[in-house]
Amino acid sequence: MSKIIIVGGGWSGVSAAVCAKRAGAEAVLIEKTDLLLGAGNVGGIFRNNGRYTAAEEMKALGAGDLFEIMDACALHKDIAFPGHAHASLYDVGAIEPEVRRFVKKLGIEVMTETHVMDVKAHEGLVEAVALNDGTIIEGDAFIDATGSSGPMGNCLRYGNGCSMCIQRCPTYGPRVSLTAGCGIKDLVGRREDGTPGVFSGACKISMDSLSADVRQELEQVGVVILKVPEEDIDYNKLDKKACKQYALKEYSENVILLDTGGAKLMTSYYPLGMLRRIPGLENAEYIDPYSAGRGNSIRYLAVAPCLDTMQAEGIGNLFCAGEKGAPLIGHTEAVVTGAVAGHNAVRQANGLKQVILPDRLATGRIISHSHEQFVRQEKYSERYTFAGGSFFEIMKEEGLYSTDSDEITQRVKRENLMNLFAEKPE
Ligand SMILES: Cc1cc2nc3c(=O)[nH]c(=O)nc-3n(C[C@H](O)[C@H](O)[C@H](O)COP(=O)(O)OP(=O)(O)OC[C@H]3O[C@@H](n4cnc5c(N)ncnc54)[C@H](O)[C@@H]3O)c2cc1C
Repeated sequence: MSKIIIVGGGWSGVSAAVCAKRAGAEAVLIEKTDLLLGAGNVGGIFRNNGRYTAAEEMKALGAGDLFEIMDACALHKDIAFPGHAHASLYDVGAIEPEVRRFVKKLGIEVMTETHVMDVKAHEGLVEAVALNDGTIIEGDAFIDATGSSGPMGNCLRYGNGCSMCIQRCPTYGPRVSLTAGCGIKDLVGRREDGTPGVFSGACKISMDSLSADVRQELEQVGVVILKVPEEDIDYNKLDKKACKQYALKEYSENVILLDTGGAKLMTSYYPLGMLRRIPGLENAEYIDPYSAGRGNSIRYLAVAPCLDTMQAEGIGNLFCAGEKGAPLIGHTEAVVTGAVAGHNAVRQANGLKQVILPDRLATGRIISHSHEQFVRQEKYSERYTFAGGSFFEIMKEEGLYSTDSDEITQRVKRENLMNLFAEKPE
């Protein structure tokens, strides 16, 4: 049986581990913090706009498990907020234990609080990774799912300091890029003005700190929109934001709150004194990141050049997933690339031809399009998501956007790819 080592336990690493296991391999998932899901612990929005299509494609492709868990943990379904339709919001407090139980039940070996510090490669192949305690773990194929946020120096240099985000670098140590350890130069995402890195696009306020009426409306409806006083509106922040799908003027003119268990505030950061001037938020208190009054985590500083199979260019048995493998934003996007990486890692280890999802599927199109634009055309200020921005426009133009589950299943059938990720490849 082949052994696949996945480094990074965010949504992409979890998805890679699930698909490697389903493809018949032994899967070892290594995560430096005490939590799986990484940035997924502070997210929650899914099925908005084209993410609905992508989730249904993944179900037909045999990789629906993680979307079923998201659906089961949803506090709100089919809600709308500016620029976004039929969104679901999962409970960030409930999702991680559910996912952890699921991966363990599947027989995946999960190693949390375990930091990969180095990679051993020889003649274009990775042989092993080295852990913080000196242990060497060998494998047949490896997946770099280490994300693109941290280490702290990046937030100090290109952000407004360490914002004390979910990555918790001061406690658990820095992100370590496997691809960089193999000599592959990471590509750097940039703002419109050329500055490296972009701010994460949301933060979270404690529900207890909202006024009773705002809290009640948020819990009942899932979304509350409050006007920003005229003199406090700042459109400049939109360019620095990771999330192209929320870089709309409505997100500067209003404070948009979503109920993900906490009150998710749809802006990168917002000075606390200004926030407390808004009726209903007089007692507001940040709980993620703790310094969201001043900044947020800086991301997209370490995207590896990859093929559409998600294999890292130049290293035969190293695959990338999530933000590491393409300038993609989102849980859904991480699950999609993770599935391709996990499945292809097993194919590579077993000497089988790797698969590329076709451009006639939204899931295939986003991988090829983002690689073409970012890696080959060097458009470093672009990021891609099914949920908005330029890629959602492409989905609409090319007839890829649909919320009709039967029609989406038929698409996958026509490509002869039903249950691709659920079965052992031969
Ligand atoms: C504040 C915030 C809010 C967001 N909200 C949403 C949302 O509502 N909806 C949505 O779809 N997307 C949202 N996103 C984006 C989305 O969460 C990410 O794009 C996606 O989850 C990235 O997944 P990933 O697996 O690529 O990376 P990450 O989630 O960053 O996971 C990488 C993991 O690798 C681990 N790691 C790194 N180095 C090592 C190492 N050397 N050894 C072991 N482990 C290591 C890290 O600890 C981390 O857990 C949000 C992001 C942020 C930051």
